[in-house]
Amino acid sequence: MTILCIINGTAVLPDRLLRDAVVVCRDERISYVGTARSRVPAGAKVIDAKGAYICPGFVDIHIHGGGGADVMDGTVDAVSTVCQSHSRHGTTTLFPTTSTGTDDQIHAMLAACVEVRDGWTVDAGSKIGGVHLYGPYFAKGKVGCHNESVCRTPKAAEFRRYFDTGIVRVATCAAELPGAAAFYRYATKQGCLVTCGHSNSSWSEMDAGFANGMRHVDHFWCAMSNVSSVRNRLGVPMQGSMLEYVLSNPEMSTEVIADGKHLAPELLNFAWRMKGSQRLCLVTDCNRALDMPPGRYRFGPKSDGSWFTSDGEVGWASTGSLASAVMGMDHMVRTMHKIGGVPLHEAVRMATLTPAERTGIDEHVGSLAKGKQADIVLLSKTLKVKQVYINGHRTKKGVRTLFEC
Ligand SMILES: [Zn+2]
Ligand SMILES: [Zn+2]
Repeated sequence: MTILCIINGTAVLPDRLLRDAVVVCRDERISYVGTARSRVPAGAKVIDAKGAYICPGFVDIHIHGGGGADVMDGTVDAVSTVCQSHSRHGTTTLFPTTSTGTDDQIHAMLAACVEVRDGWTVDAGSKIGGVHLYGPYFAKGKVGCHNESVCRTPKAAEFRRYFDTGIVRVATCAAELPGAAAFYRYATKQGCLVTCGHSNSSWSEMDAGFANGMRHVDHFWCAMSNVSSVRNRLGVPMQGSMLEYVLSNPEMSTEVIADGKHLAPELLNFAWRMKGSQRLCLVTDCNRALDMPPGRYRFGPKSDGSWFTSDGEVGWASTGSLASAVMGMDHMVRTMHKIGGVPLHEAVRMATLTPAERTGIDEHVGSLAKGKQADIVLLSKTLKVKQVYINGHRTKKGVRTLFEC
């Protein structure tokens, strides 16, 4: 049995910080979290955290790419590159996220994710918690940086085959599309976190979606409806939008891209105050430009994804609007805490336990708790990643990237 013990750090628990913490891991699981030095077993490998924060590994439910690769490239190499590049940023479980694409492109992506998940070893980086089926069921006019020509309405014959792979755990569809009700019901039956995004839906369409199992909205304020956009679509009287619906329904969760480029500090803070850390996730919504030099890249499949430009801090579409983020989850946690004004333990909860709970994997990951997988990130006092452990094994240094893109 391998016993790993981390001492001299501050453990970040879901509800508080625990100073002078002792975290013991036996084989691949956490066996003790507390302050008793007497719990350090003889023969344990002891890691001195030297005052660092001992955090649970991050869980990202919305992630397109990194290290030069996009999961929609549809190869094992691309998906592995994304997992490795995000593990450098403290993410230990991620949900590769489809963009809009052809049926063949989505099946290639799903097959590659199954292969990477099933062949996982510690050198592979972040573990795959499941796939987020995000595109292609978006509302026209709300596609953002996605390729609109392959955006479509959900048809059972098509989407059932995606769910048949068994790897889809998060499922998005715009609530106003014909076929959304059947999609939501089917995805709910599969045990997915069901979400509405890239949508111009009204309050009543959201309410119908909720009745069919929809419980989450993708990247709050981005590519979603507001009262004016619903009025432009449906006329007067003005109706409630996704925004009012999410804020008023305590069962609904949502997520923010906390890179400091998509949303101003007051919006990050507002989202946290309104929804609380149990209903708000931090996501990276990261594209392939993570850890890559500024330049032009494709969003989505390498062959025909739409072009965007990374300035090294965020992605820009040719229209001048944002084209998703280029930062890892460590950056999102820092931003939410330092600029968004959210206490550290709550910012970390939004990047760990909350997404794990919403996707139903919190029995195994998402917090430092006895019996959970030993996924641990040591963060310096300035919240930079120092060390990453996945299933109790320390990940290697060195960022692997695909520079040929
Ligand atoms: Zn999006
Ligand atoms: Zn996205």
